[in-house]
Amino acid sequence: MSTGSFYKTLADESLICGRCGNCRRDCPIYQELGWESASPRGKISLAREIFARGQGETVSPEFAERITQCTMCGACTKNCAARIDIQTFWQDLRGKMLEQNIAPKAYTAMIENLKSKKNITNFDNITRLDWAEDMDEVPENLAQESGAEVAYFVGCVSSFFPRAAQIPVAVVQLLQKAEVNFTTMGGEEWCCGFPLLAAGAKAEIQQFAKHNVKKMQDMGIEIIVTSCPSCYHTWNHVYPEIIGETLGFRVLHVSQYLVELLEQGKLVPKELTETVTYHDPCDLGRNSGVYGAPRQILQSIPGIDFVEIPTNSADSVCCGGGGNLQGADGALADAIAKKRILEAAQTGAGILVSACQQCEQMLEKAARAEKLPLQIMDVSELLWLAVED
Ligand code: SF4
Ligand code: SF4
Repeated sequence: MSTGSFYKTLADESLICGRCGNCRRDCPIYQELGWESASPRGKISLAREIFARGQGETVSPEFAERITQCTMCGACTKNCAARIDIQTFWQDLRGKMLEQNIAPKAYTAMIENLKSKKNITNFDNITRLDWAEDMDEVPENLAQESGAEVAYFVGCVSSFFPRAAQIPVAVVQLLQKAEVNFTTMGGEEWCCGFPLLAAGAKAEIQQFAKHNVKKMQDMGIEIIVTSCPSCYHTWNHVYPEIIGETLGFRVLHVSQYLVELLEQGKLVPKELTETVTYHDPCDLGRNSGVYGAPRQILQSIPGIDFVEIPTNSADSVCCGGGGNLQGADGALADAIAKKRILEAAQTGAGILVSACQQCEQMLEKAARAEKLPLQIMDVSELLWLAVED
């Protein structure tokens, strides 16, 4: 999550804050709760009292609750007048909660589960490819083929959550259609470790990074494709820092790779007459700078009428599903998703596309709760609809 800024310590960064309040402007938590103590500026002020003014460095349970009320969406960092890397600040604050044994159970249980299962669920990691049973024919090369050029890093949510299974099925069908020489890590894929980072468990992510990188190197992979924006961000921005050198792979979000396949004429979309809008996932857009590829895919499909949500690209508003907020405060996450789905519905689109399994799940749940006639799809699902025979 590092932005390559001049970040030093909680104490130093809290003193740099000039209390201008710019960070409050687009914060979904502050917009929802309205309390200064829930705003980025308010939390940084509280942290200054604790860490820079020598008040024992002890985080109170009340402040700990506020610290978990954050989706790590990055809007505050984008708007910070003092260029503080505020997401790293939140990670460090969450690390203090862990050190002081006042982190919520949702965090500690998730960390312990990841250490034992290597994924965010209770399922055995060996069942990572069970989603492929939804396919008419499971590709023979799906698990750990050496000699493949491309590895699809599926991610925990798409691997294990039934609603998200449509995404890897679509991705694999697209790769097959384009005759890509690909495989996956199968049961050897471990969580990318992003949830650990978001929980403040910075040390624990190291073994996940080392395992995943080594397995990919052993498989001789040249291109890693992810459909999860957080996996993409972690492989691109966090793993090189942990490993201490360039990894030797191209790491692409699936939307970027699909654009390449479209440009090479390996995928040819047919007409779809639909009005479509797009929700930028925070970890793909604002936190990784990928805005164009998903839009290029939508605009490559003949017949699509593409309309933007008023807040889009760097100003896009979070779906509520990031930063481990769902586990810590599910009602708050749902309230944020509701606001976003109502904004998307105002475009008049019949389909809301995203490029993230977590956004898709959050927004679909919100659309159902609001009884909106809005279909939620991943960009790979929509493209597959346009290219399948
Ligand atoms: S990362 Fe997003 S939710 Fe968290 S404080 Fe910043 S703007 Fe608010
Ligand atoms: S925008 Fe930056 S400097 Fe201004 S109050 Fe927020 S954290 Fe402090």
